[in-house]
Amino acid sequence: MLQEGKFTADGFNNRVTQLLGIRYPIIQAGMIWASGWRLAAAVSNAGGLGIIGAGSMYPAVLLEHIRKCKQATDKPFAVNLPLLYPDIEEHIAHIIAEKVPIVFTSAGNPKTWTARLKAQGITVVHVVSSAKFAKKCEDAGVDAVVAEGFEAGGHNGREETTTLCLIPAVRQAISIPLIAAGGIATGRAMYAMMAMGAEGVQIGSRFVCTPEASSHHAFKEAVVAANEGDTVVTLKKLTPVRMIKNQFYQKVEEAENSGAPVAVLEQLLGRARAKHGMFEGELQEGELEIGQVSSIIKKIIPAADVVKEVWTEFMNTAEAPFRY
Ligand code: NDP
Repeated sequence: MLQEGKFTADGFNNRVTQLLGIRYPIIQAGMIWASGWRLAAAVSNAGGLGIIGAGSMYPAVLLEHIRKCKQATDKPFAVNLPLLYPDIEEHIAHIIAEKVPIVFTSAGNPKTWTARLKAQGITVVHVVSSAKFAKKCEDAGVDAVVAEGFEAGGHNGREETTTLCLIPAVRQAISIPLIAAGGIATGRAMYAMMAMGAEGVQIGSRFVCTPEASSHHAFKEAVVAANEGDTVVTLKKLTPVRMIKNQFYQKVEEAENSGAPVAVLEQLLGRARAKHGMFEGELQEGELEIGQVSSIIKKIIPAADVVKEVWTEFMNTAEAPFRY
């Protein structure tokens, strides 16, 4: 048994690994159209925590993914539940019936569901983008917080606080376990986050670039091809979202620059843009949600290799932080 706060090649013993029942404090973000059972199971089997992204799944689809995940791994895994999801009651019923051990909630008030989930013995982690909301999470009784900075892909906080500024602020605000997210794709970045007070990291973009991610291959290749400056947070009048700049983004920018009202932007966005872009591979007219860190991701490799690479680099950095 590892001493508290110690780590070896076999794992890290800290509050996050204890809470989630995992070897490495490496969590794969719940991502719409990317993180189904295959990715979640692969990450959990590799010693991290895999998360099924329920935001893009109809309830029956989520049920199928939970069941398949349970068959593919005997390790803990989680479901990410965006709280603004339309059929949330049905999702929660499946999560409880299937005894999913951990739920990561996001995009909503942590007070709404935490008590009900915890009454079922489910560990609840909530995703925030500010210290103020992290404190609300602690008050609402969640078990841990993911603090996600402005670098992150997909839905993004209105405060636009970068991970570098967010993590120390959240660390000061709460005493429950803290997981850092936004811009983390390497072991060195993980080391930096842990040095600033995080006890684990949540990684999204890097796990999109794996064969197990359910997104379209063309989207994965677009992520690998993305360079510095190729992602942007847009649609700020609706829900801010970080995506790759493409023809759809150009149209949004033109509309915003011409002062288009919200109704016009909503019409321009239409329905299922994210599905068209990330799941069906429509690279110009779809919505391609990915983090800023995509500019340094240059390969598509199995999810287990991502976990191994990040963990090995973390350990090597801890041993000699200033050696490049
Ligand atoms: P849209 O309204 O544009 O489209 C809804 C999409 O979700 C469709 O593709 C639809 O699939 C699918 N879907 C799954 N379940 C349902 C349901 N019960 N009712 C209606 N549609 C459903 O939404 P978005 O694609 O922009 O977002 C979908 C979800 O993902 C939301 O819950 C949102 O909060 C979440 N989201 C989270 C992000 C994050 O970063 N955390 C980023 C963006 C979105 P089909 O086309 O097959 O009908």
